[in-house]
Amino acid sequence: MLANFHTHTVWCDGKNTPEEMAEAAIAKGFGRLGFSSHLAFPESMEGYLSPDWALDYVRDVRRVAEKYAGRIEIFCGGEADYIPGATTPEKSRYGFMGFDYLIGAVHFVTADDGARVPVDDTPEKLVRGIAEHFGGDARSFVERYFEQQIFMVEHFDFDVLAHPDLVRKFNAKHPYFDEAAEWYEALEARLARSLAASGKATEVNTGAIARGWLDDAYPSAGFRATLRKYGVKCILSSDAHAASGIDCAFDRFGGQENFLIFPLDKRPRNMI
Ligand SMILES: [Zn+2]
Ligand SMILES: [Zn+2]
Repeated sequence: MLANFHTHTVWCDGKNTPEEMAEAAIAKGFGRLGFSSHLAFPESMEGYLSPDWALDYVRDVRRVAEKYAGRIEIFCGGEADYIPGATTPEKSRYGFMGFDYLIGAVHFVTADDGARVPVDDTPEKLVRGIAEHFGGDARSFVERYFEQQIFMVEHFDFDVLAHPDLVRKFNAKHPYFDEAAEWYEALEARLARSLAASGKATEVNTGAIARGWLDDAYPSAGFRATLRKYGVKCILSSDAHAASGIDCAFDRFGGQENFLIFPLDKRPRNMI
């Protein structure tokens, strides 16, 4: 069954409403669709769901779920950021929203001076952030990114780790570190071990293909092999920000042996 649990809408930085996304999913033969608005409560950030609208978002998704009941099963969740000292992806933080599941994500790497360097905003901001806050050392930036993810996986209560090597986003068109370096592969293995020990899943996320940055998913083929070696569960996600991208490259990744399982295939427990 086609399913996607990583979906954005106009409630954060997506182009379409939940209703439009649901119609597109039905038209493409999806059986399940989960919404995952960007969250960083209590912060109100551009492109993120405002805490003031938290319950309106849930009401809208549940209304659409009811409207299309019998045609597609709709879930309400979120993609919650970990920004040290500011916000954490924890079910207790978002429990009042009655989510079906929670995705945890790192989109900003916090430097020693407290600055938040955006991982996936623009190549220019990334380069400037590394120059100004990591002494121009891309390796320490990438290491901090993985350490932030490992800390998050080990300490917070969520279900799925989003795009576990988002640092690769600009590395094909604007290379800034060597993905084949031993130190980098060691970081991938450390994260895979943490995921396996925690029982949390991660995702094969095709969002960078939809947006033309990469010709491969997050995680890379090599990282996928490492995750497989450690027995980490994965879901396949499009991270769609528009109705047209809801099944982006699913035909390329859907058939992988035993790797792409759907831990959310059974109705997940409600968080409340
Ligand atoms: Zn994300
Ligand atoms: Zn996302």
